[in-house]
Amino acid sequence: MQVLRTVSDLRRARSSMVGSVGFVPTMGYLHQGHLTLVRRARQENQRVVVSIFVNPMQFGPQEDLLHYPRDEERDRGLLEGEAVDVLFIPSVAEMYPAGYSTFVEVEEVTRRLEGASRPGHFRGVATVVAKLFNIVMPTRAYLGEKDAQQLLVVRRMVQDLNMDMAIVAVPTVREPDGLAMSSRNVYLSPEERRAATILWRALQLAQGLYSKGEKRGRSIRDQMVHLINSEPSAKVDYVNVADAETLEDLEEVKAPALASLAVWIGKTRLIDNIMLK
Ligand code: AMP
Repeated sequence: MQVLRTVSDLRRARSSMVGSVGFVPTMGYLHQGHLTLVRRARQENQRVVVSIFVNPMQFGPQEDLLHYPRDEERDRGLLEGEAVDVLFIPSVAEMYPAGYSTFVEVEEVTRRLEGASRPGHFRGVATVVAKLFNIVMPTRAYLGEKDAQQLLVVRRMVQDLNMDMAIVAVPTVREPDGLAMSSRNVYLSPEERRAATILWRALQLAQGLYSKGEKRGRSIRDQMVHLINSEPSAKVDYVNVADAETLEDLEEVKAPALASLAVWIGKTRLIDNIMLK
């Protein structure tokens, strides 16, 4: 595995690759969720490129940029084990040199949910992903359904900007008790880790209600909020049942609908979602 840190080195490596290139952008501190994306990319492409970049532009001023977990050595070992060809780890100065002034704004689908709770977040995501796609020029990029709105934003951007590549969505990888794997889970104390299962339990409640015939979006949301509030260390940021394509709130739920939530467990903000079937 080549570890490259500059755009020019990456471009040189890319120009010598023949056949399809699968790309997995990450912020590092890798877990089985990330590695599932990498394995899928490995199966479907001749070459695999993974990036690790904790993108300052997608963090708000009060968010966890400075504390975001990092362990480059461990990440390298894990990616070696997956037969990754190139690991791209640019510095912030390499991605945003002095004078940097160009940003990608995806409208509409960014207005709600994470976009509403984290102003500027998707501007940062779209900008860095557009840059990474322009640098790596992948045949296919692999993104997790864990970040369902991010997936919609990136798909929209690729379509709107005529980027010549495919976006492949990979289902969320969970711990045995249902908690979605996330680099941020490391912030949780043992007690908070137990409490964090409330996210998955609320999503399962939504699925159960929908399966039993409950079609009123507000009723599903209210019961999810009620369940989450029964967990003392959990605080709801948002709970939502929306059209899976537009993310418009649904009064009457019709599949494909996305139930999604953001919940604070102590000082850690976790997100998760489920497609109602
Ligand atoms: P991150 O490092 O958190 O920015 O995530 C990098 C990529 O991995 C994104 O496309 C995420 O959606 C995806 N990802 C993160 N956690 C999971 C998970 N538990 N299951 C599947 N994909 C995930």
